Amino acid sequence: MGSTQGSTDLAVVGAGPGGYAAAFLAADLGLNVTLIDPEPNPGGVCLYRGCIPSKALLHMARLIGEAREAERWGVKFAKPRIDLDRLRSWKDGVVHKLTGGLGQLARKRRVRYTQGRAKLLGSGSLEIQTCGGASSRASFGSIVLATGSSSVRLPGLTGESPRILDSTTALQLTDIPGKLLVVGGGYIGLELGSVYAALGSKVTVVEMTSGLLPGVDRDLVRPLARKLESAFEEILLDTRVARFEERQDGVRVTLEGTGVSKPKRTFDRVLVSVGRRSNSADLGLENTRAEAGKAGFVQVDTQLRTGEPGLSAIGDLVGQPMLAHKASHEGRVAVEAIAGRQAAFAPAAIPAVVFTDPEIAWCGLTEEEAKRQGRKVKVARFPWAASGRALSMDRTEGVTKLLVDPETERILGVGIAGSGAGEMIAEGVLAVEMAALATDLKLSIHPHPTLSETIMESAEVFFGQSTHVHRPRNT
Ligand SMILES: Cc1cc2nc3c(=O)[nH]c(=O)nc-3n(C[C@H](O)[C@H](O)[C@H](O)COP(=O)(O)OP(=O)(O)OC[C@H]3O[C@@H](n4cnc5c(N)ncnc54)[C@H](O)[C@@H]3O)c2cc1C
Repeated sequence: MGSTQGSTDLAVVGAGPGGYAAAFLAADLGLNVTLIDPEPNPGGVCLYRGCIPSKALLHMARLIGEAREAERWGVKFAKPRIDLDRLRSWKDGVVHKLTGGLGQLARKRRVRYTQGRAKLLGSGSLEIQTCGGASSRASFGSIVLATGSSSVRLPGLTGESPRILDSTTALQLTDIPGKLLVVGGGYIGLELGSVYAALGSKVTVVEMTSGLLPGVDRDLVRPLARKLESAFEEILLDTRVARFEERQDGVRVTLEGTGVSKPKRTFDRVLVSVGRRSNSADLGLENTRAEAGKAGFVQVDTQLRTGEPGLSAIGDLVGQPMLAHKASHEGRVAVEAIAGRQAAFAPAAIPAVVFTDPEIAWCGLTEEEAKRQGRKVKVARFPWAASGRALSMDRTEGVTKLLVDPETERILGVGIAGSGAGEMIAEGVLAVEMAALATDLKLSIHPHPTLSETIMESAEVFFGQSTHVHRPRNT
């Protein structure tokens, strides 16, 4: 064990969107902050190997898709030629710019950034192992744990094979496999599958349950599922991978499922995207009164405090939904609570976006959740086939819906499937958080012609008065 550092007010362990948002706010509030992470700059999974690199590549995939679709409107582009080195370095450049910017912001705020890993030794005490190999102990008034999550590995898949990818290695874009198997039809599998399909891979998706994106409302998934049926080679539902076998010509996979006609197939690469697990092991929680519960999530109260005084936890480490914006908000609440301010993490709506094409976005109550709760809701749907903007973009497959409380007419949830749904959902979040009524959305003038009008017209549908859809109330 090396030296003992001087103490600072607050240590934040992990510099992802949860950790750096917490550290930056704490510095803005006047606390003396140490931020610890193995990466050279803040950013975490989201910036280095998650949200940002995947969205850069999805932007490329969308462009290729649109160029192909333009043929229908009389504009034909040549088949794209992919310069993989240039694409990779563009994507890496985006990541570098963002993480470098965060490093600068940390320095400007005088946040002490330590490149290393930390472990709890006891109340307020950390052992910090720097990337150079030095080890030290330090004590802090408060500690925020923000160590995030990692990809779940499939049982039976041992050893490192360059042919078996997870989301991190898939994003490295080493090559374009001829045949790619994606195991898991969740959002990460579908986003990355879309990227590789755009690059020219023949993509097969295997999903254990009976539909893509389990848990998401089926009417929202439908437009995407239809599109992916033609973009992907095959989508196998109710199917699991029973065996992998690495051979000279690729990975031989044995599939099990009711409708599997050809159970043994060979792929050049297999991308395993079957979920993520919280990074709570090896944190030294056992040296404190903090506890990890189901699925390894660290247990916290609404102020993100663990059972150990002075120890908070945030982000993917503490639970679903594992999303960057949820982590950042928790980070800010945790710090406000540490600074003695009135704060609680009790959102009415956490938006979720699947950045495929079409996109899917929702917030607040979903129909699936309402069903589970046995809660009565009125659903008002506006089909994009009736939207002038959607027609002008040739993207009429979308749908916008509101979930409305039948008694109070309050907006409880919003769901959107269609091009740009991820940008549009912010209005839904505001409506749910501000306890807007259907009439508020109906009476708010939306610009024409835009897809945002579909939110206003969904509210009109609720009252049976939509200009562009004739659907009298209560039918
Ligand atoms: C492919 C992919 C795409 C995604 N796309 C989106 C998206 O579009 N939108 C979205 O909202 N979310 C997305 N996510 C999820 C998002 O990345 C996470 O929800 C988010 O990063 C969680 O933030 P966090 O701060 O909790 O932890 P993380 O971002 O996981 O950061 C944790 C940090 O802690 C560090 N760490 C771990 N252990 C220690 C230790 N002992 N000491 C010090 N540091 C440690 C890690 O190295 C890491 O840098 C995506 C994830 C993946 C994998």
